[in-house]
Amino acid sequence: MEALDHMNLASDKNFTKLLMPGENLLMTLKVIKFNKRNKAQERTVAITSTGVLNLKNKKIQRRIELTSIGGITRSRNGEEFILHCPNEYDYRFSSPLKDQAVQTITRAFRELSGRGLLIWETNELNLKDLATTKSDKKKGVTRMPASETAVNYQSISGNGEESKENRDRRSRTIFRASNNSGEVSMNDFTILKVIGRGSFGKVMLVQKKDTKEVYAMKSLRKDALLEREQVEHTRTEKLIMQHTNHPFIVKLEYAFTSPDKIYFVMEYMRGGELFFHLKEAKKLAEDRARFYAAEIALALGHLHQQNIVYRDLKPENILMDDLGNVHLTDFGMAKMLGEGGTTQSFVGTPEYLAPEIIACSGHGVTADWWSYGILLYEMLVGIPPFYNQNIQLMYELIQHGDLRFPQRNPLSPAAQDIITKLLEREPRRRLGANGVDEIKSHQFFEGTDWNLLEQKRLPTPFTPKITNQLSTENFDEEFTSEEPVNSVVPEHRLKLVMQNQDQFRDF
Ligand code: AMP
Repeated sequence: MEALDHMNLASDKNFTKLLMPGENLLMTLKVIKFNKRNKAQERTVAITSTGVLNLKNKKIQRRIELTSIGGITRSRNGEEFILHCPNEYDYRFSSPLKDQAVQTITRAFRELSGRGLLIWETNELNLKDLATTKSDKKKGVTRMPASETAVNYQSISGNGEESKENRDRRSRTIFRASNNSGEVSMNDFTILKVIGRGSFGKVMLVQKKDTKEVYAMKSLRKDALLEREQVEHTRTEKLIMQHTNHPFIVKLEYAFTSPDKIYFVMEYMRGGELFFHLKEAKKLAEDRARFYAAEIALALGHLHQQNIVYRDLKPENILMDDLGNVHLTDFGMAKMLGEGGTTQSFVGTPEYLAPEIIACSGHGVTADWWSYGILLYEMLVGIPPFYNQNIQLMYELIQHGDLRFPQRNPLSPAAQDIITKLLEREPRRRLGANGVDEIKSHQFFEGTDWNLLEQKRLPTPFTPKITNQLSTENFDEEFTSEEPVNSVVPEHRLKLVMQNQDQFRDF
C-alpha cells in the first residue's frame, strides 16, 4: 500500500478515522478535478475497498460508492479519466497517475462486486464532452457510452451464449446501404446540431467520426412508439426507406437500435424543408412550383408502383438538397398495400387529408394525389384551399366545400385545371387514378423533360443558401438553438421498453 499512498494518508489518524469500519485504504493521489463549469480544482483522491473519496483539506467532500460507478472513460495518451456515475453525475479528473488509479478502482470494484467494470478509451486528451454534468442530468442527458463499445465488454459479458438481458442492452445495426460497411452505433457519430423534431424524437445533424461525412439522424424513442402503438409503422418506415432508391426520396444510409431508441441515419438535406422556403416566399411562381411538383410526382409515382401509399404529403416532409432538388422524407405514415389494395386507417395531417380518408370509406394510393393537389394549390396560392382553424369545419369543407381560386393574380388556366382534377372527391375519377402518367401528361407540365428531370440534369429554379458542409441556416432556430445532445430515456420509462424489447427484435 505504501507505494500507492502518494499523499501519505495511511498513517494520518485524522484521516483514517473518517473511513467506515472495514473500509481499507488502497491508494491516495493528488488530482485535478473539473467542476461543472469546467474549472480545474486541486484535490486529493483516496481509493478504498468500497469507494472513491474526493478530499479537500483532508475532509471528505464526496464519497463515490464503487457500486454507483457505471464505468470509466480514460484518455489513452492524456491524463484525464471520468468516473461515470449514472445515478448522479460524472466525475472528471486529471492526474499523471491516471492508469494506476483506474487499475486500483477496477480491482476494488471486482473484489467488491465480483464483476468487471466497463472501461472506455479515447484518443481525446480533454474529456469534457464525455462527462455528464449535473445540468445534463437535469435535462435527462447522459454521456456515458454504450456498454458494448467498452474495450473490455466481451470479457465482462462473457464469450459464450449472450444473455437476453445483455442482448437487449446492446446496440444493433439493422440496416446499412450497400456502399457502407461495418457495425454502427451512436458512438460512431458526433452530434452537431438539432435540426428538427418528429413525433417520437429529435432529428439531429451528426458527423460520422471516421469518414467525417455528415448525416441527418432521426431518433425514435421506443417507449413513445410502444405507448402510441407505432412500432409497426416504424418497422414499415424502415422497410420502405431501405428498399427505395429514388433521386427524389431521401436515402437511408444506416439504421440501428439501442436499448431505448431506434436511429435512422439519412443523407442530410441542407436546403431544409420546402415549408421553410414557402414561408419565406409566401407563395411560389408557377415555374418554381411546377419544378417541385414534377419531382414529387416522380417520387409518388415510384412509391405507388410498389403499392406504397405515402399518406403524409405536406411541405414539412419535402426536403431540399444543396442544389435545390426536393426529396420526400418521413415514411412514418406510409403503408404497403396489397395489389390495388385499400386501407381504412385515419392518418395524415388535417389540411391534406383526402375526403375518403375523412369518411373512413377506404383509401388507396389515389389519396396521395389529392394531397398533391392541395400541395400544388398551397405552393401557388400560399395557403391550402380548404384551410380553417376549426378542424371539424375544415373536414366539412374538404368533403363538401367549393374549390375557389384567387381572383387577384389568377393562376394560369393549366394550373387551375390540374388542381381541379386532382381535387376530385371521387377517387376513381381523380387525376392520377390511372397512374402517374396522367399527371405527367397534363398540360400544366407541358415542356417538362421528365428524363432530364429524373437525372437531375435540369437547372433548379432556386438554390438554397448554404455557407458550408455543416450549415444549418435553412432550419428553424427553434431547433438549431437546442443543445445538441442525445437525451436519455428516464429509468421508469425504460422499464416499459425492457418488458417489450421483443417487439423490436426483428427490425
Ligand atoms: P420527420 O420526423 O422525419 O418528419 O423529421 C422532422 C424534421 O426533421 C423534418 O421536417 C426536417 O425538418 C428534419 N429532417 C428530417 N430528415 C431530414 C434529413 N434527411 N435532412 C435534413 N433534415 C431532416
